[in-house]
Amino acid sequence: MDCLFCKIVNRGIPADIVHEDEHVLAFSDINPQAPTHILIIPRQHIATLNDIEMADLALMGRLQYTAARLARERGFAEDGYRVVMNCNDHGGQTVYHIHMHLMGGRRFTWPAG
Ligand code: 5GP
Ligand code: ZN
Repeated sequence: MDCLFCKIVNRGIPADIVHEDEHVLAFSDINPQAPTHILIIPRQHIATLNDIEMADLALMGRLQYTAARLARERGFAEDGYRVVMNCNDHGGQTVYHIHMHLMGGRRFTWPAG
């Protein structure tokens, strides 16, 4: 399958991996939008948020749990951080393997930015 993030999971292309376990991989975003910008993905290929099934609910919780853990490890959990998942064209999704953006180390505005 021609999926960029599956290639990272399978070590076909390099990435700065900051966490991995049986179900989840986390690595630095190549184009960071904050002092810390990490992408947290399931090892399993799921193209978009629309493709999540009941069987994936625990996996989605693992993504969020990993984000919170990394935020604490990086020292910005208490200051706060932003977690984003983009879906399809209007959501700004560019890589079609679901990923949670964890961004921290600066203040964010809302909405956008
Ligand atoms: P999306 O726009 O789909 O929500 O986010 C995709 C993210 O993947 C972007 O923030 C982009 O910088 C990042 N990205 C794209 N290609 C690569 C890559 O080859 N390696 C890494 N580490 N990140 C990538
Ligand atoms: Zn994939």
